Formats: sequence, C-alpha cells, structure tokens
Amino acid sequence: MARCSKEVVLRVIEQEKKKLDNTSVFGGFNRFLKGWLQKEGHHPEEWLGQLEGYEDLSREERRRLLLTIESALRASPAPGKGVSPKSRKFVPSLAQPVRYLKGVGPALEKKLNRLEIFTVEDLLFFFPRTYRDRGTIKPIRSLQGVGIETIQGQVVQHKIEPTRRGPLLKVVVSDGTGEIRLVCFNRGYLAQVLKKGTWVRVSGNFRYAFGAWETATFEYEVGKLRTTDFERLVPVYPLTEGLPPKKLRAVILSALETCLHEVPEVLPPALRERLQIPAKREAIRELHLPSTASFEELQARRSPAHLALILEEFLLFALSLKIRRRTLETFQVPPCPLESPLAERFIRSLPFSLTEAQKRVCLEIAHDLASGRVMNRLVQGDVGSGKTIVAVISALRVVETGRQVAFMVPTEILAEQHYSRFREPLAALGVRVGLLKGGNTKEKRQLLEAIQKKEVDIVIGTHALIEEKVAFADLGLVIVDEQHRFGVLQRAKLREKATVPHTLVMTATPIPRTLALTLYGDLDVSVVDEKPAGRKPTRTLCFPLEERFKAYNRVRKLLREGRQAYVVCPAIEESEEEIANVQEVFEELQKKWLSEFRIEVIHGKLSSREKEDIMHRFSRGDVDVLVATSVIEVGIDVPRASVMVVENAERFGLAQLHQLRGRIGRGSEEGVCILLAALSGENVRKRMAILTATDDGFRIAEEDLRLRGPGEFYGVRQHGVPEFHLADPFADWPLLERAHQEAERIITEDPFLERPEHRPLRQEIERRFGRYLEFGEVG
Ligand code: ADP
Ligand code: MG
Repeated sequence: MARCSKEVVLRVIEQEKKKLDNTSVFGGFNRFLKGWLQKEGHHPEEWLGQLEGYEDLSREERRRLLLTIESALRASPAPGKGVSPKSRKFVPSLAQPVRYLKGVGPALEKKLNRLEIFTVEDLLFFFPRTYRDRGTIKPIRSLQGVGIETIQGQVVQHKIEPTRRGPLLKVVVSDGTGEIRLVCFNRGYLAQVLKKGTWVRVSGNFRYAFGAWETATFEYEVGKLRTTDFERLVPVYPLTEGLPPKKLRAVILSALETCLHEVPEVLPPALRERLQIPAKREAIRELHLPSTASFEELQARRSPAHLALILEEFLLFALSLKIRRRTLETFQVPPCPLESPLAERFIRSLPFSLTEAQKRVCLEIAHDLASGRVMNRLVQGDVGSGKTIVAVISALRVVETGRQVAFMVPTEILAEQHYSRFREPLAALGVRVGLLKGGNTKEKRQLLEAIQKKEVDIVIGTHALIEEKVAFADLGLVIVDEQHRFGVLQRAKLREKATVPHTLVMTATPIPRTLALTLYGDLDVSVVDEKPAGRKPTRTLCFPLEERFKAYNRVRKLLREGRQAYVVCPAIEESEEEIANVQEVFEELQKKWLSEFRIEVIHGKLSSREKEDIMHRFSRGDVDVLVATSVIEVGIDVPRASVMVVENAERFGLAQLHQLRGRIGRGSEEGVCILLAALSGENVRKRMAILTATDDGFRIAEEDLRLRGPGEFYGVRQHGVPEFHLADPFADWPLLERAHQEAERIITEDPFLERPEHRPLRQEIERRFGRYLEFGEVG
C-alpha cells in the first residue's frame, strides 16, 4: 500500500467523524488508521489500543479519540518524527479538544465532557440557559435586600468563629458608606482569598441581620477586577456538579478570546441585512457577554443575537430538508399500478367498509405510489380513525409489484398485535408476513434469512428493524406507525438499508403546521378526519384522588357486566415521589377493590415473551383487568376492553391521555374512562375539564398547546428532534416559518447552493445536517 499523506488521513478522519460508524474506509476505518499510525511510528499505545477496539467504543468515545488524533496530527509539522503530542504547545482552535484551552486540565475537561462539551467549538456554542440581572454596583448604604444586589469594597475584618459544625469564616467588607458581612459556609478556602485589605466585588442576596447587611449566598471577584463576571447581565449556564459557574464562564471567555474569529459566517450578508440581524461572531459573543441587549430580550430569547443564531439553525435545517426533497424527486422508482387486485381483495375481505376519509387517503397514497417517484407521506388521524388499514392497503400495493415492506411500530406489544391480526387474512391472499423481535433466537435468524431471500413480503417490528442488520432483498416501502415515538433520524436510518423505498408515516398526534414543517419538512400530509360509523364516544369522568373508592366501585360494577378494564399508572415501582405505581396498585386492587376479578400486570420491564403472553390472555378474555404503564398507550386494540382508569392522570400530557383512552371504546360498547387526578392547581383542573368535555383529538391538542405551550405538549426532548445548539422548534416556532420562507426563496434561486454567497451555507449544512442529505451530494 502506498503511503498516504497526512492530508489524506486527515480528510479520512474528517469523513469518519460525520458518521462514526467505521465505514469511511473499505475494510474498516480503524484498521486503516491504526496501520497508518504504526507505520508513522511512535504514536501512543493508547491510541492504537483504542483503534483496535474502535467498534466497541461509544460514539462519544470514538469522537473524542478522533479529535485527539486529529489535533495532534494537525499540530505536528512532520508526522512520524516521534513527537508525543503532549510535549507540544498547541494554539487552540475550534476543532480541538477543550483541554488545549488555558486553564482546562484533565479534571475540568471531564466535567465539560459530561456537558457534552468536547471541543472549543462545543464550548462556544454552549449557550446560557438564562441570565441574571446583577444590577449596578450599589453603595452599601443603599442596599435594599431585594433580589440580587452587587457591592464593591475592601475587606476590613476577617475572623473564624468556632461553631458546632466546625470553624466558620466571617468577612466584613466596607465601601466607606457602610459594611456588609459575608458568611462563608463550606468555603474555608476564602480565608486565603479574602484577606484583610483585599478589594472585592460581591453579588448576592443580602439581608439585614444583627445590625448589618449580610449574605451567605454570593459570588465574588477579587484583585484586578476583570468585570466579565460582574457585567450587569450575567449568563447562567446549565451546570454539572462540581463545575463552579465562575470557572465555566472563565473557560468560555478564554474560548471567545482565542477562537471566536475562526467561526465561519454562514448567512449571506444580504439576508442578514434584510432581516437586520448581527453577524454570527457578534451574536455568539453577545450571548456569552451581553453588552447591548436588554435583560428582558435575553430572558425571552428575543435579542438580535438570539434571532441571528436561531434563524441560522432553522434555515440550515430547512434547507437540508428541501435539498433532500429535491434530490429525492429525481430518483426513479418502479411505479405501482393504480389498479391493485390484491388491495381490492383485501378491502372486500374486511368485515366493514372503508370510511370516506380512509378511501380518500388510500387514493392519495395510490397516486404517490403510481407516480414513479419516491413517496414521502405523513398520515395524520385521531386515535381509532383506522390508520392501520390504510397502511396495510398501501403495503399490499407495493407487495403486489414484488417488493418488500417494513412496518415499524413503537412497541413490541403493538408489533405482536398487528402481526396476529393481519397474518392470517394476508396469508389467505398469499402474502407472507413476518414478525421481527429483539433478542437472538434461532427463529429470528431464520426470519432474517427469509427476508434476505425475499421469502417474506411484509416485516413487522420495532426499533429492531433499524438497529439490527436487517437486509431486505428489495425494500419498497417503509411504514412508520405512531410517528410521535420516532423521529426523522430513525426514519433516515432505516431507509439507508435499501435503495430508496417509499415512506409512509402515521401519527395520531395532531401537529401544528409549523412544527410539522420542521420535523417532517419533506413530507406530504394526508388527514384521516373521520371515524368509523357506529362508534359510541368514550365517556370520560374525573375524580379527585381522595375518591378512588368511588371510581373503583364503578369499575367493579362495569366489570360485573362482563367488560374488561385497563388501569394505567405513571410508574412501575415505588419511587420517592408519591405517584401510583403498577406494583402497589395491583396489590391494592387485588386485596381491596377488585378482589373477585383476574388481574394481571404489564409494563416495559417484562420480557417480550411475558408481555406477549399477558396481552394474549387479555385479548382472549382470560384476564379482566390489566394494570399497566403507558406501554399500552399506543395502538393496542382489544375491542372488549371498554373501561379505563388512569391513576395520577395529572402526570400525563393531555395528548397522551387522549391516546390512552383511545384504547377503549373500540367496540360497540360505550367506553368509560376515569381519570384519577390530584386536583391541586387550577391548571390541572382545566386540563382535566378539556378531556371530559371533548373527544376531538385536534381540539385537545390545541387546548393543550394553549395551556402548556408546545414543548410540554410533545414531551420536550423527543427522539429524533434534530439537535440544535440554541434553536428550539417548540419554543421558537414562530421563527420556523420564517426560516422556511427564506429557505424556499434561496432554493428557488439556487437549488443546490452553488453561488459563492451560498457556499458557506452549503458547507455548514454538510457539517451539521449532512445526514439528512444521505441520498446524494448537495450539488
Ligand atoms: P388508529 O387510527 O388509531 O391506528 P386502528 O387502525 O387501530 O386505528 O383502528 C381502530 C379500530 O377500528 C380497529 O379495530 C379497526 O379494525 C377498526 N376500523 C378501521 N376502519 C374501520 C372502518 N372503516 N369501519 C369500522 N371499523 C374500522
Ligand atoms: Mg394505530
């Protein structure tokens, strides 16, 4: 093998950093790099060892290793001269590990790593959570004892008092107008710092006690006053234990001083001018060291600096989605004829006829599939609107052309259920369905083989479908059921497995337009806005926790009529908080309220075999009451179960509660859902009232958005929501629409970002959101 130059190796490392999956070199990136380093000689054993076990490292560990090697290579003028990287003096730069910054030793680096800060760049983009207004420096005489106040003066007294808990340092500071006392609990080291005569600034909550102003919770700065910590507006960062705010601010300051100028400007100047937003570097500095923005603006994330950075992130993301979409549109796939005898036969075999909404959506999908282009469609429909059938019909259209379908659902229980419900009717049509589960059984290995040999047409499964190395012979369609449990990323991953399959995403969660744009910017949307006829709406009642006995008396009566019930709890086991857990509730029901019935427990910690078994017996009617966690929330369909109790209902989001009660009232009997809630606050009362008043998922979503804001509604950090530094699609959604408009404007003018003024955009997209473009190069 010819020797690679350092530049080539660096480029390979750069490539590998994007995916961290050891695929940047045929035959394994790790073997390549290890071989190269060995030839160059004298590199630390540690690296070689870590490269050897590269596949076993976590993504973070891989990343850290690559960064270390990369920066060492960059810093050494001639590789292979046997210079240990430690002995070199590094000028810090953006891509280097934080330890190259002044004042960052191994201990501090570890703490920073815990905050996911690995490089100098990470540090610059580690933005404050909020700000504190320290106010201006006040004469001690005019302290008011309200909020955080700041004074400046000289240490005039310094004594250590013995107390029961050990010695306690007390320091008196005077500024000529008065004196304050600092009480230094557990801060003995201050004795060395706050010596008599030292000038000090102190910021804290002062209170008047024993004839003087006093504070025990304060921050201080001594000596030559650097003022960064004592600007009026102080950034407050998310903290990790053992990392003092002062320290973090100092390190960030050092990063700003040494590396801010390396941050590339990304937005086209014309755009910045039009929107009147500052340059990126200026914005970053402003967020860490506010100088022009007002406290209120900063608090509300509405300063010009915020706007600039948030907009940039949204814009990059929006652009990447649009580029991907355009790229996708250029792919040709075999069209599925509009006429589908297989789908027709299946529809005829159903014991009911499709609703108008189902027919319409099926037709929209049929047209997508027939177009010869890749379909990307989101089907939205309230719980119980019959999305599963729509999915199956679509699957059949694809199967009919000889291609395979992956049907991905969020829980094993649900996979199980879809499987048992459709296997036979589909087998009758000659369609072979497989169920892929976790674990490593012989059965499963056989299934994997069958999938590869195209002996299976439709594979139903959970994450296992993406995580395991499932090789489809010819994957034509990916169905993702109950989308809110998955994200864009996972969808993307699954699709890497085939050439370019169609994607059909189904969700019961109504999504505001703007949010849908961000999360699934590249999808068309269909809505199943009608429920099958003959459904009786579920009656929802709310009881305060104190009236549990009433609730269960009612349940007992209903069970005696031969119904089945779910009892849903927020927790599995006893915890510190006083919330209902499956185990306790189960015991209580068995002993006290429902002793005459057959009760079983089901939750996520059981093995899939156990879950399967319990669900099976429940749907056969061998179990009367199922005490469960929210594992039953999605998709489960047991028509005879028409009663539900939700313990500590206030713990769940409205949308989630609506999903939960969607499990009952699926048969001909009216469902009864009883919410047991700690009705302490006005807000809880209101939220429960919405649920008892309406059964319309879209209205519930709207109300919940209004009462709680989008973040909580969706359960803030969901899987797959793209990681932004600062932007938050939930909190900043008004800016999203703006970004999409701007992205559209740019893409229309310059579809692949080839113009010089767009080149930085393109580079940044490749770096940050490159994985959304996996189907082709940008341009
Ligand atoms: P979801 O939209 O919540 O996924 P499902 O697809 O699970 O809803 O359907 C809920 C129930 O309604 C299932 O038992 C299904 O068999 C039934 N169903 C679906 N479509 C119809 C229809 N057109 N008429 C009557 N029942 C239907
Ligand atoms: Mg469903």
